Amino acid sequence: MGAPPTRPADRAFTRPRRRPIAALAALAALLAVGAGVLVGLSTPAPRPADAPAGEFSAARAFRNVEVIAAEPHVAGSAANDRVREHLVATLRGLGLQTEVQDAVAPEAGQLSGAAGGATLARVRNVVARLPGTDPTGKVFLVSHYDSVQTGPGGNDDAAGTAAILEVARALTTGPRPRNDIVFVLTDAEEACLCGAAGFAGDHPLARDGGVVLNLEARGSTGPVIMFETSRNNAKLVEIFGNAAPHPVGTSFAVEIYRALPNDTDFTAFLDREFVGLNSAYIDGGAIYHTPLDVPPRMDRGSLQMHGDNALGLAREFGRTDLGDLRAGHDDTYFPVLGGLVRYPGWLTLPLAVAALLAVGALGWFLRRRGRATAGTLAAGFGLALVPVVVAPLGAWLLWAAITTIRPGYAELLDPYRPVWYRLAVVALAAAVLFCWYALLRRRVGPAALAFGGLAWLAVFGVLLAVAVPGGAYLTTLPALAGALAGFAALATRRDGPWPVVAVTLAAAVAVVILLPPVVLLFPALGMGMGAVAALVAVLLGLAVLPVVDLLHPRAGGQRGLLALRARRLGALPAAAAALAAVVLAGVGLAVDRFDAAHPVPTHLMYALDAGTGKAAWLTREEKPQPWTDGYVDRSIAVADEFPGLGNGEMRAGPATAAPLPAPKVETLSDTRNGDQRVLRVRVVPQRQVRLLTLHVDTSTATVRSATVAGRNVPVEPGDGKWGFGVVFHAPPPEGVEVTLTLVPRGGAVSVRAMDASDGLSGVPGFRDRPAGVGVVGSHSSEMLAVARTYPL
Ligand SMILES: [Zn+2]
Repeated sequence: MGAPPTRPADRAFTRPRRRPIAALAALAALLAVGAGVLVGLSTPAPRPADAPAGEFSAARAFRNVEVIAAEPHVAGSAANDRVREHLVATLRGLGLQTEVQDAVAPEAGQLSGAAGGATLARVRNVVARLPGTDPTGKVFLVSHYDSVQTGPGGNDDAAGTAAILEVARALTTGPRPRNDIVFVLTDAEEACLCGAAGFAGDHPLARDGGVVLNLEARGSTGPVIMFETSRNNAKLVEIFGNAAPHPVGTSFAVEIYRALPNDTDFTAFLDREFVGLNSAYIDGGAIYHTPLDVPPRMDRGSLQMHGDNALGLAREFGRTDLGDLRAGHDDTYFPVLGGLVRYPGWLTLPLAVAALLAVGALGWFLRRRGRATAGTLAAGFGLALVPVVVAPLGAWLLWAAITTIRPGYAELLDPYRPVWYRLAVVALAAAVLFCWYALLRRRVGPAALAFGGLAWLAVFGVLLAVAVPGGAYLTTLPALAGALAGFAALATRRDGPWPVVAVTLAAAVAVVILLPPVVLLFPALGMGMGAVAALVAVLLGLAVLPVVDLLHPRAGGQRGLLALRARRLGALPAAAAALAAVVLAGVGLAVDRFDAAHPVPTHLMYALDAGTGKAAWLTREEKPQPWTDGYVDRSIAVADEFPGLGNGEMRAGPATAAPLPAPKVETLSDTRNGDQRVLRVRVVPQRQVRLLTLHVDTSTATVRSATVAGRNVPVEPGDGKWGFGVVFHAPPPEGVEVTLTLVPRGGAVSVRAMDASDGLSGVPGFRDRPAGVGVVGSHSSEMLAVARTYPL
């Protein structure tokens, strides 16, 4: 145990004789590894229309994208009928047994914005089957063919639907698979996941379950990410890693996805004990659910990747014995340079504990070898938390500043051209880390600071292993690699090449593991949550501190003016990164301006009470854009007058009443039995509408049970005046029959019927949006609702 070290160079892992060369070599190696990571996450080149018949061709699939997404085709619309006819004709043309499942189906998951009640839809799923030669089960390829009301769904989900048509074509050209392959093109996904729920719950082909491959798109570009699996996924993930040509997926994504408010058809299948994988590309989210989600905006490389993976997986699941897909555990898995690494989930906690012990042992050895003292190790550990907190905070403040300058970003999932802002956040995280390092390097020492970073990575690994096991690998493995590199550096001559090699290898492991989440978290969460990516970026920085130290201008040993110069040089990396952050943010603001092709998104609805003649403009924008602000001037609680529009406050303004009829409520029968009253009514829209709602004023009657179009629906008392309600998407023109078993409170029972169509042009007082003002991606913008209260 030598005397306490004094000079920073004596307290580092490395002291190469040719330091600039070693630093450059380490940097070049890491840049090469980083480039490899980015290549591994890139999309393949789209294959042309004359590609071999057994292959997936994005060019062939894209022809179907253009037909499917020719115009908005919300469930129940004439446009959606045309899409369905095209799908049926295409699948029949392949010689597949094809049918349309026409049913009333409940919603899956918990999507409903309706006040206390049930959501259903009339759905028409397209179902085609390729019978297997000796089936052990069924493989379901699933996507939804309906679009939102605000856009044609060029990506969401014409991508998945066209990919499945092309996969079906490729599968019918080769030898028949062993297992049945079922192509399920669902309806009313956007409304309520009702099509998938109707198939999974009611269709005879779904009775015995099977493997579901769900294909989605929540953007226009980027790699296809396998982001969700059924439970006990080890066998499924093994097949995914082996059979998908581009296996980008991480067990961490499931945890992120659960924290997001999105849902897909896959939920309906998970509710019914199917197994399977859910994949989507998600970058370019600015156009999601907007009129801009048109075919020309699609990245054909993403389509190719979707199709390549779906075809590879369909073939492999088509020949696998499907009897034993439910292995006993979940896997941890993540992308590594174009491949997929996986290990059993039960290894997560032992590995995390091993990493913690290894980092602890490294600290002990550092002290023994005189590279650190107990005090500096403790300081390194305590102070390493500073950048972990400051970098995400900085990213959050940066985005707050940018949205103050450009308020139109508030309603966007992600900016149209987000790359500059993403780079700015990464530069900001680097600036925080470099600044922290420059301030502490002399006082605490490089080895103790590196120890502090690794110690936090190891601690996070244990916490994640307990709370979010699928994400523990992110910090456990870099911590373990860093500790092993530390041992290797301590075991070899400090001025030789091996310590540099060891810390560079460990840094490469950190880059391979932590760079993909930095890259994928930005599109997954949007710039509003860029702080999360900043957090991962700074963890990556902490994992590579020994290499940062090599690059850091030397500030040890010199005296007088030289020392001062070195200290100034030490601030250089931080200053450069901070300048880069400012410049990149500025470039982002200059490049990503709103214009006709990149409009500022706005949300507007019109709601009319046909009974009172009162009408209102409504918006979900919390701080309305100037265009929207011309319509609204106050906040109101909508649930009292328009329970079908959900709970909560909305901005509203007065509107002129349009001569539009509310849906009629026709009483079909009315019987009394003791204190109960059974009311059978038909709610009939008086115009072409997308949805129909019926709510009961629970101060006039208690609802005991209800059936809608012959289906029992759950009756759970909700809040407010209209305590029970039914939302019915894509109603048939003849209306929807509802049977209510009630206990009246004396007088008449008050019910409120509402319907909604899409499109505001022609509504009195509505002015078309000028160029540069667009429609926000949502399920409710441009909605025109008409309601009326009826005493029964
Ligand atoms: Zn969608």
